[in-house]
Amino acid sequence: MVQTSEIAVIGAGVIGLAIAHRLASEGREVAVIDPEPPGSGASYGNAGTIADYAVQPVGTPGVLRALPSLLFDRNSPLAIRQAALPSLAPWLLRFARQALPDAARRNAIAIAALMVEALPEWEALVAEIGGENLMRRRGCLYLYETLAGFNAAQDDLAFRRDLGVSVEMMSSAELARMEPGLPEQPGGAAYFPNAVFFNDPGEMVQRIAAAARAAGVQFIPARVAGLARSGGQVRLTGPGFDLTAKRVVIAAGAHSRSLARAAGDKVPLDTERGYHVEWDMKQPPVTRPCCPTTRGFYFCPMTGRMRVAGTVELGGLTARPSRHRIEKLIEGARHFFPDLGQPDRDWMGFRPSMPDSLPVIGPSRAGAEIIHAYGHGHVGLTLAPVTARLVADLVAGRQPGAEIGPCLPTRF
Ligand SMILES: Cc1cc2nc3c(=O)[nH]c(=O)nc-3n(C[C@H](O)[C@H](O)[C@H](O)COP(=O)(O)OP(=O)(O)OC[C@H]3O[C@@H](n4cnc5c(N)ncnc54)[C@H](O)[C@@H]3O)c2cc1C
Repeated sequence: MVQTSEIAVIGAGVIGLAIAHRLASEGREVAVIDPEPPGSGASYGNAGTIADYAVQPVGTPGVLRALPSLLFDRNSPLAIRQAALPSLAPWLLRFARQALPDAARRNAIAIAALMVEALPEWEALVAEIGGENLMRRRGCLYLYETLAGFNAAQDDLAFRRDLGVSVEMMSSAELARMEPGLPEQPGGAAYFPNAVFFNDPGEMVQRIAAAARAAGVQFIPARVAGLARSGGQVRLTGPGFDLTAKRVVIAAGAHSRSLARAAGDKVPLDTERGYHVEWDMKQPPVTRPCCPTTRGFYFCPMTGRMRVAGTVELGGLTARPSRHRIEKLIEGARHFFPDLGQPDRDWMGFRPSMPDSLPVIGPSRAGAEIIHAYGHGHVGLTLAPVTARLVADLVAGRQPGAEIGPCLPTRF
């Protein structure tokens, strides 16, 4: 049977759900299509941080200098699966170009512009969907295990301040008062007071899905395999599925590249695989997200458990999770908390990643009936409501904010 909808959103991650909820709240007829349960992709397993401070792209001159040693050391926080190297080479070349000083600076300024409204937009969404009890306003900490590490971070922190991020430096003793459960950190910490975190990001996403459903959004459990324009509309097809919509939003996270291609846009999207391990416990040893910066992961106090989440593995969408990466996360966590036993669960997810660390948001170059909304990399949770607002503006014919400029799919 051929179905119809005014707007079809492909993908029920936090991005697709925030968009669907916003459009339905504006009176639109919306269908969300995803073969998996809503919020079960990257949006489930992240570190839960609304990270106003995460304005630096992944590619910076510092990362570029360290890239060869990082990529080929399988123990480093940014590693590559050798087998994926040939298919990743074009993405890595673009990434390297975007990590040069001028490009990296430009990308940071563009990310900072997106961040400005991230918290207010989340606050409004949380109030609408009844998510206040999942939101913690306790800021976030970068930990420095050595004084040298603290000193080396100063330029980066000054740059973030220039971009409007609030950051306070903390001595080792001040940190010990703030987070007494942590072992001593000789280099102290940087405290980002305006960051908030969700103590159950998966549950927060479920609440967006429930609110979207209540606002009339239809959920269709299907995989979109075909996307084609036809008579001013867009036809989506897949096994046992056929739907025609006036507008389509591609929000399939790391899996969006082939859909974008079918829409007529060649987009250099790939994935940075990330991991988490969790230990069930009543009282996690930290009370806010804490990131030992050289290790590339966060200790996240979640409801009934501590999640240790992060690291980057360039390895494509099909390879199985790496046991080695999971063991390195466990080892890193035990360095801080030696009494941790075997974790209760582990997980891997696909960050949808662009070489310039900027999402792809905007109309297809081949026609505005298809809108792109993916590629948010490390900050998709943070930027979901901002993305939803920008997409809703495009759908309604309102002028979106200038922050959309660097995100347009025509930038490639
Ligand atoms: C370890 C880790 C920690 C992170 N920490 C943070 C953090 O603290 N703060 C932050 O802001 N961000 C964080 N992120 C990033 C954030 O989780 C992602 O950017 C965000 O979840 C991406 O959301 P999405 O909706 O684009 O993708 P997803 O959540 O992956 O959703 C995409 C959906 O599309 C569906 N789909 C795919 N193909 C098709 C198809 N053909 N047809 C229909 N549906 C399809 C999938 O089934 C999936 O449900 C982290 C990520 C990781 C991995």
